[in-house]
Amino acid sequence: METNKKIKKRKLSIKKLTIFIIICCIIVCFVILFSGEEKMVKSRYDKILLIGIDAMDPKVTDKLMSEGMLPNFLRLKEIGSFSKLSTVLPAESPVAWTTIATGTNPGKHGLFDFVTRNPENYLLEVSITKQKSKYSTKFESPVKGIPFWRITSDAKIPTTVIRWPATFPPDKVNGVMFSGEGVPDIRGFSSGYYIYTSEGLDEEKKIKVSVNDGMINSKVFGPLGTDRKSIEKSIQIKVDKDKATIIVDNKEYPVDVGGWSDWIRIDFKVGFMKKVSAIAKAYLFSIEPEFNMYLSSIQIDPENPVVDFSYPSKYSKELADAIGLYNTLGMPEDTNALNENAITDKVFLEQVAQIEDERNKMFWYEFNRFDKGVLAFVFDSGDRLQHMHWDEKNLFNVEEGLSVNKEVIDYYIKKDKLLEEVLNKIDNKTALMVFSDHGFTSFERAVSINTWLVENGFMTLTNDYNENDEGALFKFVDWSKTKAYSLGFAGIYINLKGREGQGIVEEAEKEEVINNIIKKLEDFKDPKNNQKVITNAYKREEIYDGDYVEDAPDIVIGFEPGYRMSWQSAIGGLTPEPVIDNLKRWNGDHIVDPSHVPGVLFTNFKINNENPSLLNIAPTVLDILKIEIPKEMDGESLV
Ligand SMILES: [Zn+2]
Repeated sequence: METNKKIKKRKLSIKKLTIFIIICCIIVCFVILFSGEEKMVKSRYDKILLIGIDAMDPKVTDKLMSEGMLPNFLRLKEIGSFSKLSTVLPAESPVAWTTIATGTNPGKHGLFDFVTRNPENYLLEVSITKQKSKYSTKFESPVKGIPFWRITSDAKIPTTVIRWPATFPPDKVNGVMFSGEGVPDIRGFSSGYYIYTSEGLDEEKKIKVSVNDGMINSKVFGPLGTDRKSIEKSIQIKVDKDKATIIVDNKEYPVDVGGWSDWIRIDFKVGFMKKVSAIAKAYLFSIEPEFNMYLSSIQIDPENPVVDFSYPSKYSKELADAIGLYNTLGMPEDTNALNENAITDKVFLEQVAQIEDERNKMFWYEFNRFDKGVLAFVFDSGDRLQHMHWDEKNLFNVEEGLSVNKEVIDYYIKKDKLLEEVLNKIDNKTALMVFSDHGFTSFERAVSINTWLVENGFMTLTNDYNENDEGALFKFVDWSKTKAYSLGFAGIYINLKGREGQGIVEEAEKEEVINNIIKKLEDFKDPKNNQKVITNAYKREEIYDGDYVEDAPDIVIGFEPGYRMSWQSAIGGLTPEPVIDNLKRWNGDHIVDPSHVPGVLFTNFKINNENPSLLNIAPTVLDILKIEIPKEMDGESLV
């Protein structure tokens, strides 16, 4: 017989053993959990939602989170992660989004700037809307690398990509692709508004009208005809006391003073029995004493597109059936009209609000049917808003150079509300990544690198140079005495013999010219305040590698915050002074050294890298979907 003492002792040891086993189990669990975090993330998810918010800035995000204004971004940070996302050089949307999509540096995807040049004749070419030939209505992709959606599509994974920049024309994916930045309007432009006015004379963007017996007879300009001239369409505007009615093809579109019209449908006859269908919206400023009306870019009709901007092509109509007609132009926020004082801030903000409303409808249309694979959606109005509203100095002064307008704050708050709904609706099998391509800074001084090249003896102008002419497209450049020229928002090209049409720099001399320019650029001081203008100037081989490095500018400039390439220099022109005040409404920018303008990254899972970059996104997408990461990708998975 065991004594009570013995029984007690044995019970105690069983108890100890049980506790020991439990502790061991907990330790084992922890070991498995942490060493296998990576595997867990991969097996936990069967689909991935990517929300791109162009130009979402970490300084603003941090500030608004700390003020309690972005509770859902804070919630996402606590669930998973929040970090700055290193961006690319130059920090421009098409380059950055393509870097994200391909997981490669620009040397492998071939997109280096909004614009590039034809080395033979120094003519400017728009990179993101690339016509197959000069007068062709066929377009080709500006991207040479392989974006993640082609890889997921090849792996038969359902893939939907909506409004990703630089994706026109759309790729054939295993799902839906809907192009964003890069889609042209009906005339092949990225912006083409008109002001109909009874004041002044006909000008480039002004159409002079006169009111006769309460009626205006006028016209709109459509696509180019076979004679290379715009096909015109007549319109009538019936004018009442405080409203007008636009009449096109016997259909009436009323518009109040201080209000917007509905979508106006405009069909252009382009040949026998052939028509091109378009849409536009009007805003009526005034009728008395003068008639003033804004007409937006005339855009591709999504119900009957003259050029496909969605895949499958019927998707653009399907979307219009679901959410109503919508802006199809890649960048419909009319920053040009505001910059040129053709519209007021109120009109611009109302337009942005309408566009965001459409984008939200597009997002929820796709989200509500998303049950497998990958859904990627890019919101980009915030970029245009910040360009026009960065430096208003009326709200936050968290640090020098950062003051943010209420309209920008409202945009971030709206995105937080969207995130709240997303977080409430996604299931636990969905990996979520929210990210931006770059941040933002102010644009106070405009730098004409071409003027600087002249002053430093690398460029020579012809005798007929005239200071009042901005000399776009190198109008005054004497190529026989020019060693280097600048085109685009960050690039300098050497006028190389054998490569450039009128090149003079010998191959053997090239390196020395590049070194001289870089050395001098790094000493470049703003004459106004003696501040450094350039953070760094890079040889292309230092920052890019891959098959397309040869297409890059020879030198790529990273400006200091507050400085940016002048509009004139970007198109091959120049200003009399190398640095001038930026007096335009467009007073925020991001095409500075990438170290100053990282983007943001939020995830609903832990990531393995404290300093992620744009290059990590695509490999992470593939990894989570259990697809092998191609060797060409420069980045690694974050899980
Ligand atoms: Zn931008």
